[in-house]
Amino acid sequence: LRGREGDARFERQIYVMGTLVTITLRAPHREDEDLATLVSSVESELNRFQQRWSPQGSGALAQLNQTLADNPGATVPEGLRPLLAAAKSVADDSQGTFDPGLGALVQLWGFDDPEHFRETPPPDAELAAALQRPHRLARAQLTADRLEVGAPGLMLDFGAMAKGAAVGAALQQLRDAGIEHAMVNAGGDLQVIGHAESRPWRIAVRHPRPPEEAPRLLVALELEDGESVFTSGDYERYFEHAGRRYHHVLDPRSGEPSTGAQSSTVVHGDPALADALATALFVGGPDQFHALVDEFALKYAMLVDADGRIHATPGFRHRAQWLTDVQFAPDP
Ligand code: ADP
Ligand code: MG
Ligand code: MG
Repeated sequence: LRGREGDARFERQIYVMGTLVTITLRAPHREDEDLATLVSSVESELNRFQQRWSPQGSGALAQLNQTLADNPGATVPEGLRPLLAAAKSVADDSQGTFDPGLGALVQLWGFDDPEHFRETPPPDAELAAALQRPHRLARAQLTADRLEVGAPGLMLDFGAMAKGAAVGAALQQLRDAGIEHAMVNAGGDLQVIGHAESRPWRIAVRHPRPPEEAPRLLVALELEDGESVFTSGDYERYFEHAGRRYHHVLDPRSGEPSTGAQSSTVVHGDPALADALATALFVGGPDQFHALVDEFALKYAMLVDADGRIHATPGFRHRAQWLTDVQFAPDP
């Protein structure tokens, strides 16, 4: 959208990884044609990324999953190693809240597959059987090139971290192409570099239970160069059954959707970590909020608990521009 109040923005939307991704560039001295070509190459990169990290299909992660289905261990292809190591380290330290090993449980609940979206929880016996299989990356051993689970049946699913890594890869590609000011926004999860004209990029986080006729947004933040903001919530993929909301973020300890929170938001310089830790905080709920914030030394994090009350780090409170009335949980 060039020419808006002199703020020469170039904006394109691409559909990748099941999400509409908006790429906004501020590069007034570059031709639109150049920028369009750049966005296309980002799109190709994100498509390759999606292929590599899909738990099913023919990509590298899917192949690793096929090996692990019948074997207690596997050699990890090089392209998967850095992110797998990062995920393992978050899983190890997440106090049971984050674990990409629960792919079979994700599949059982059916949230990953719009065509087989179910409206009732899986039968108890199937849930118990899935929990009998290996489903914790935190309990596996990862060396430089091998993952040793100890028994066959682990299925990896990077749904809670891959979007963050993808956003980071996209922004890095823009940086490498000489772009200094940009935002990559994947359905509200985003990272920025530089700033918007004369002020910082300003973004808003969705309200998990927007009051009727009120803004659908909860809080706005101004972002510094390189910061990313990731949110996990129970409002995107869910069904209701017998008065309970079943959403797509599972507690690895129970194999069932977590119950402590409506949403959680993390601001961090590393978007893959922001994504993973938003999921960890979401599952941990109010009981584990402060322990997880300390464990991962998070400066900017917020949780909306099941009662709609806000838990936030002092740093987050300091920066937050609340867009609606909010009620804070008492300090612990
Ligand atoms: P979003 O779908 O908005 O990106 P998350 O980042 O929280 O939400 O990721 C949720 C996805 O991660 C699920 O769809 C599933 O594939 C996977 N997942 C669910 N629960 C967990 C968990 N406790 N730890 C790691 N991955 C999870
Ligand atoms: Mg996440
Ligand atoms: Mg996410």
